[in-house]
Formats: sequence, structure tokens, C-alpha cells
Amino acid sequence: MRGQLHNVEVRVPASLSDALALLAREPGVWTPLAGGTDLMVVHNAGHLKATRFLDLSRFEELRGIREEAGALTFGALSTFTDLRDSVAVHRHFPNLVKSARATGALAIQNRGTLGGNIANASPAADTPPSLLAYGAEVELLSVRGSRRVAYDRFHLGYKVMDLAPDELVAAIHVPLPTGRGFHYFRKVGTRQAQAISKVCLAAWARIEGGVVADLRIGLGSVAPAPIRARHAEAALLGQALAALPIEAAREALLADISPIDDIRATARYRSVVTRNVLGHMLRELANL
Ligand SMILES: Cc1cc2nc3c(=O)[nH]c(=O)nc-3n(C[C@H](O)[C@H](O)[C@H](O)COP(=O)(O)OP(=O)(O)OC[C@H]3O[C@@H](n4cnc5c(N)ncnc54)[C@H](O)[C@@H]3O)c2cc1C
Repeated sequence: MRGQLHNVEVRVPASLSDALALLAREPGVWTPLAGGTDLMVVHNAGHLKATRFLDLSRFEELRGIREEAGALTFGALSTFTDLRDSVAVHRHFPNLVKSARATGALAIQNRGTLGGNIANASPAADTPPSLLAYGAEVELLSVRGSRRVAYDRFHLGYKVMDLAPDELVAAIHVPLPTGRGFHYFRKVGTRQAQAISKVCLAAWARIEGGVVADLRIGLGSVAPAPIRARHAEAALLGQALAALPIEAAREALLADISPIDDIRATARYRSVVTRNVLGHMLRELANL
């Protein structure tokens, strides 16, 4: 049965501190509502248990993309369009621009937010692999204050996050990369646009003296949550571009992923394609 709107209450607090106070008084009762592009689909399908929503959309404190203290800070309400339109994001984090472009179509990009993309905790979401590759941190806010969590420790399992019921995602901080950087993003879906990922891989590497000095690889759709490919990274760190151990890294990747069969792809397809995309990424890196 479809969701009934007359059962729904949307609270619009006057201020962010009022919103935090409400979450603290009644934790777990109020569901944050940002762009609504995930929540409304589940509601419309009649699968959403939540009926009480806390509208975040008026809180200017949660908006904007700004450069501060060696990082770009993205307010949680930054939309995919904001990412696409930002000169600083283009300059420093091209993978995030590609992630935003690969998300839905323009209407979704105009409404859907970065905070919603990560707090929805879908293993198939498109910005998490890029945020993992860029070493992002999530800033969480509650009446108890704010705290930061490294994004690669934020997702604890399928739809399980280091996010208390009285906390909001306030911002995402992404350190500005230094040195000669390599950026790679590849989403594999049924189509180029309007398709949920079957496999998504984003990578960032710093090269020094022809050697892989730093490397992070983020993956989507191949585990219960977005993950770092730590085994593959370890096989590549410190290696010379002239002799990258591509086969060893492809083999090591098998220890990182735990793909499943679902309506979009089989586990075997995901495993083969993830290793192929990694191989493609490494051949590009080798030719840098
Ligand atoms: C047609 C269509 C196509 C789509 N295509 C893609 C795609 O290609 N790739 C992709 O990754 N996604 C896609 N999505 C999913 C969706 O658009 C994104 O996940 C989007 O980023 C969700 O953001 P939102 O602001 O709309 O979240 P909402 O729907 O408002 O919220 C999503 C979840 O996050 C929580 N939440 C939101 N903001 C906060 C916050 N600040 N603090 C704490 N919790 C919060 C909400 O409580 C809810 O649980 C698609 C959706 C549709 C309808």
C-alpha cells in the first residue's frame, strides 16, 4: 500500500538549535528530512515506518561550500548541483564532480544533498567512493556539541552508521590534496544516466619521484556499505609507476569486497567488473 500523507507530520523548527533540542528530547522519533529524494520514494512505496519528519532545509548553517583550514567544507545541505557548480570542487576534487553528475538526473541533482547521500547509507550511493578516496571527515552535531568522524569509519555495516539518533550530519570536510595528484572515478550501471551503480570505484593517488606515495580507493555496491579497498591499496603503496603490480592488486582486491547477487547484478559480475575497473584505473595511473 502507498504511504498516506495524512499520517505524516513535518516539523519546521525556527532554528538549528531548536531542531537539535527536539532530537535530544525525543531521540529516534524525528527523522531528518533534507531533499527528500530518498525518503519520499520509500514513503510513496509504503515502506517507510517513520511518520514524523524534521525539515532541515531552512538552516543556512548547513549550506555552502567553503575553503577553510586546508580543507573544503561542504554543508550537509550542499546539493549535487552545488558540487557541479563549484569552481573549488572542480579544481580540487574532480571525482566529486563526476559523482554528482552521475547521480540521477537534473531534478534529483537540484534537490538531493550530500548529507542525505551519506546518511541514507546506501552501499550503492555515488558520492561515498569519492569521499573515501579523498579522506573525508564527517562533522556531527547534537546538543552535546560537535564531533568529527573519519568517513572511512562512519559506515559500520548495512545501514548502520556512527550516528546517534540525536545527531545531525552538519558538514563534510575534505582535506585539500597536496602534490601531484591522480584522480579516477568510474560508475558502472545499466545506463550512463539515471541508473543505480552495479559497481562504483573512485581513487586518488599522490605520486612522488615516480612512486605511489599515497593512495586511497573507495568502492560502492560491492559490500554492505561503501568501503576502502585497503588490501589493494597496500599492494600498490610504495610501488614504482613503471612497474605497478596490477595483477597482484587485482588479486588483493578480492579480500576487500563481499558482493552479493541482487536485482541489478550478480556477485560474480560485480567481482569481475570491480577488478577490471581497478585494472583500468591502474593502467591510467601507470601512464601518468
Ligand atoms: C530518481 C532517483 C534517482 C536517484 N539516483 C541516484 C544515483 O544515481 N546515485 C545516488 O547516489 N543516489 C541516487 N538517488 C538517491 C538520492 O537522490 C540521494 O541519495 C540523495 O543524496 C539523498 O539526499 P536527500 O537530501 O534527498 O536525502 P533525504 O531523502 O532527505 O534523506 C535521506 C536519509 O538521510 C537522512 N538525512 C538527510 N540529511 C541528514 C542530515 N543532515 N543529518 C542526518 N541525517 C540526514 C534522512 O533522515 C534519511 O534517512 C536517486 C533518487 C531518485 C529518486
